[in-house]
Amino acid sequence: MKKKIININKKNDINNFYHLLWLYKIIYRRRELVIKYHTKISKDKKKEFEEIIHAFNIKDKNERLEYVYFTMVDNVNADLQKNNYCEFDENGTCIFNRAKHTKWKSCCRKCPYLGEHGCTENNFACKYFFCYYIRTHKKIPNYSRIRLFRYYLTPTQKFICTDNFWTPTKEILFYLKNNHFLSYITHAKKFNE
Ligand code: SF4
Ligand code: SF4
Repeated sequence: MKKKIININKKNDINNFYHLLWLYKIIYRRRELVIKYHTKISKDKKKEFEEIIHAFNIKDKNERLEYVYFTMVDNVNADLQKNNYCEFDENGTCIFNRAKHTKWKSCCRKCPYLGEHGCTENNFACKYFFCYYIRTHKKIPNYSRIRLFRYYLTPTQKFICTDNFWTPTKEILFYLKNNHFLSYITHAKKFNE
């Protein structure tokens, strides 16, 4: 595959790249993008940028979608683990359920995908969700600012990604690949029937 070099001479070149990504997707769709850094970029910014470039270089649509989805989930998981917004205690009970003395431990409740050590699936919608209690008591991240989410999902896929609570990964990927809003609303919910 022919290569296209992306030179990063100054920090703002990365933002400029993002602004032009829609155009690059058309002009360089058959090319492999290769980054050449000529300036120092922070670790986080570099990681985010390289994820976008990696997604660009995957030319198979479904393969790229899987990469985008799993990378987003990994990033959100890492953020949740680092910040523990829900303040889970050693029993796995979150701050809301402790404060309200409910019989539940967390949003996961009786979800069949809840394992001994937490969620056994890669569910972006669940990770993305914060209850009213958390939203009013804490500064929470806006995951819709995740660049892979912004640049590599269609509006329908964004909706599907944030709508599928208590759902296993393979079912979410099925809907995402199908990428059809009406079909999702009317038929896809019958996946398990
Ligand atoms: S799928 Fe959602 S509700 Fe179920 S265990 Fe995972 S995070 Fe919890
Ligand atoms: S979002 Fe709220 S209810 Fe859900 S696990 Fe976190 S604190 Fe508990």
